[in-house]
Amino acid sequence: EPMPEPIVLATPAEMSAWSRQALQAGKSIGFVPTMGALHAGHKSLMDRARKENDLLAVSIFVNPTQFGPGEDFERYPRSFEADAQLCAEADVDAIFQPTPQDMYAADARTFVEVGGLQDVLCGLSRPGHFRGVATVVAKLFAIVRPARAYFGRKDAQQLRIIEVLSRDLHLGVTIVPCEIVREPDGLALSSRNKYLSPAQRKQAVCLNQALAHAQKRVAAGEKDAMALIGKMAELIEQAAPDAEIDYVAIVDMQTLQDVAAVSGGCMAALAVKLGNTRLIDNMRL
Ligand code: AMP
Repeated sequence: EPMPEPIVLATPAEMSAWSRQALQAGKSIGFVPTMGALHAGHKSLMDRARKENDLLAVSIFVNPTQFGPGEDFERYPRSFEADAQLCAEADVDAIFQPTPQDMYAADARTFVEVGGLQDVLCGLSRPGHFRGVATVVAKLFAIVRPARAYFGRKDAQQLRIIEVLSRDLHLGVTIVPCEIVREPDGLALSSRNKYLSPAQRKQAVCLNQALAHAQKRVAAGEKDAMALIGKMAELIEQAAPDAEIDYVAIVDMQTLQDVAAVSGGCMAALAVKLGNTRLIDNMRL
């Protein structure tokens, strides 16, 4: 039996009306926010949300406020037909696909900042990025009113910021972290992998390899964060002559602050540019 197509809701008012009806009927909503260009990483979030909720809503919105000047907002891949197909296969009930104009009034003046967490790691080279992320997620939660929302660990800093945001603003949304889906060679799936040339794609595996090396050394007893960071940077520089390291860090997963010695609850995280493409990855240690 063919599954019913997801309903596509184009405005916040339509999405809110759908959610209100669902909540009045006593149904729980699982929510997966995305920027589209959907892949198996997104699908894994949808599959989990499908199992744990009565209804499943997915948003597809390339959020302008989380892109900096000179970043890839204009050329970010947009593929609505293929995305709708993947959502249908994932048994999504509702796709929310608003326009920037509908999400942001021309004179919008309310923004959400998650102090401290937003300024480290990726926040250092992408000022304003997490303010944009936190703002849009708070708005999406207000519109969709999910019981649970699903986020990938690939964006570990984003995940932590949203956990804290949901707690601090009493949004009542349970944040569910989901494991990173990887290509067979270890590269974390990302919509931005499409930008890589074949040569860059081969080199991109160095992110995962450096992290896996650190994880192995920690399992063997290494605790010195500086030694691990140095080795990871060295591995990346050897394996990928075109790579430009943005950061390699070992941080506490709650505070996102650097640690000197690895203990439980730490992760190694890195950002590397290959040409114009900035890739991120991380691994718990
Ligand atoms: P994006 O469309 O890139 O904004 O991502 C939407 C959601 O999918 C975020 O919660 C991401 O962390 C998650 N995601 C993206 N890539 C992956 C991946 N390879 N594995 C797991 N989750 C992912």
